[in-house]
Amino acid sequence: MESFTKLGISEKNTYPLSRKGFTKPTEIQELTIPILLNKEIDLIAQAQTGTGKTAAFGLTLIERLEENNIMQALILAPTRELVVQICDEINSLKGSSRLSIIPIYGGQSIDLQFKKLKKGVNIVVGTPGRILDHLNRGTLELNNLKYFILDEADEMLNMGFIEDIETIFKLTPEKKRVFLFSATMPHRIQKLAEHYMGDYEFIKTNTTITTNLTTQIYHEIMEDDKFEALCRIIDINPDFYGLIFCQTKIEVDQLANKLIERSYSSEPLHGDLSQYQRERTLEKFKKKYTNVLVATDVAARGLDINDLTHVINYSVPQNPEIYVHRIGRTGRAGKTGTSITFVTPSDFSKMDFIKRIVKSEIKREDLPQIDDILNLKKDKITDNIKERLNYDNSDFHEWAKELLGIDTPEEVVASILKNAYGKFFDKKNYKEIKAVKGKRERVYSEDNKVRLFVAKGKLEGMTKRKIIDFISAKSGTPERKFEQIQLFDNFSFITVPGKEADMILHSFKNIKNNSKPIIEKAKAATKKVDFYEKKKAV
Ligand code: ADP
Ligand code: MG
Repeated sequence: MESFTKLGISEKNTYPLSRKGFTKPTEIQELTIPILLNKEIDLIAQAQTGTGKTAAFGLTLIERLEENNIMQALILAPTRELVVQICDEINSLKGSSRLSIIPIYGGQSIDLQFKKLKKGVNIVVGTPGRILDHLNRGTLELNNLKYFILDEADEMLNMGFIEDIETIFKLTPEKKRVFLFSATMPHRIQKLAEHYMGDYEFIKTNTTITTNLTTQIYHEIMEDDKFEALCRIIDINPDFYGLIFCQTKIEVDQLANKLIERSYSSEPLHGDLSQYQRERTLEKFKKKYTNVLVATDVAARGLDINDLTHVINYSVPQNPEIYVHRIGRTGRAGKTGTSITFVTPSDFSKMDFIKRIVKSEIKREDLPQIDDILNLKKDKITDNIKERLNYDNSDFHEWAKELLGIDTPEEVVASILKNAYGKFFDKKNYKEIKAVKGKRERVYSEDNKVRLFVAKGKLEGMTKRKIIDFISAKSGTPERKFEQIQLFDNFSFITVPGKEADMILHSFKNIKNNSKPIIEKAKAATKKVDFYEKKKAV
């Protein structure tokens, strides 16, 4: 936790961090927290999604705000989901602090929100529209505001909130600090910043760039089958030299022990081992006396090993940055490597998120089959025998003749092989691996194009450009995948390939407009048009 206290986080506020499994600050946290905590200056931070921006400002507020009943911080975010997410994240970081945080968004009863606000809160997190609503009604006031934070500013811009934000800015007191977080920096955001912000620092990171020498794959798997799957992967790769990442020290110990029981040459590496033990373990691994190192993220940090064949995520890492960091340990120095991630049904959405953020391809593959492993072993032994034929075996000829006289050559050779290698070919060594339950259906086949209905149109200020920006900001769909964008007053249509359609529908699954999905598959275009026009007319 020292890496956090170095940035200025006090000791007591690091306990929740270790409970959450944060072992070190992300890059954007490392660069912004010292500014947020130690300089009385505004900040613009640009970093990709998934890099831990919430904790950067969340921890600052926890350090700085007073536990009274005065509202000192306002955070604006574009959607209800993000508002709730930010509240959850800050709540999980605040530990014993009694700061109160409330979410304010459209769709929730305004009276209920009013009651909560009246009780006295320290931090309000809300969508711009509903916040403005409360400001206009006088149920929220910003006189004592010390921190004004805009999260996902570019998305708020895409969603047409810019005027609301400007209005809110005008209602904030002169003396306050402004932090603006955004994944991209469109011109209008820069202008907004110049107009409304004081002296500010600009921090930009380019984290998630993965090395393309690493082949990235993942297996969908049930929790109970992970160990079996790992054994198959090691067995099908005779030159396996890999690092297996687990979440906790206990998991590391348990897994390394199970591997040793099954005769793999494996060792654990984590922070509870003495310095001496860790050094010895690393030394043995570097010399390849052991070829399977099981480790936590922290323990593997300074590891300088170039020729790993595999990095295995025994469970899905907590965020894309950790994912990138882990797999960056293979495919180094011009060598190729493979990263494999085990994904259980409860990790599906976390994995989707990682896939979307990490710009390189992560392919889903099936696990190695038992027969493939056995065939591979057979080939190896055959190769060894062929190799042996190049040498002088004459001292065994007499015995061989004797044996060949006993039965047919097939029978004799078979019995010798079985005697020598039989134990390696027992299928009982391997357990069956269950099919994954709770598998998400692919809605559309990868190649077919799909027409989607988007409940946003010209009257909301949408243009073709804005439709593309709006959808790609959330789903990561590249612009070139959009086709036939058609804009109407209250809605639009787009066409995208099946794979992108799946991704878009998944990303917008919880985003609704008056309880109707904001994006859905266009059923029959004409019916939809009728429906919406009728609804308008009512
Ligand atoms: P962003 O706002 O940049 O998109 P979030 O703040 O939503 O990213 O964080 C993404 C995920 O990373 C969250 O699950 C969060 O708990 C986690 N996270 C944040 N900081 C760290 C850290 N230092 N170590 C590990 N995980 C972290
Ligand atoms: Mg965020």
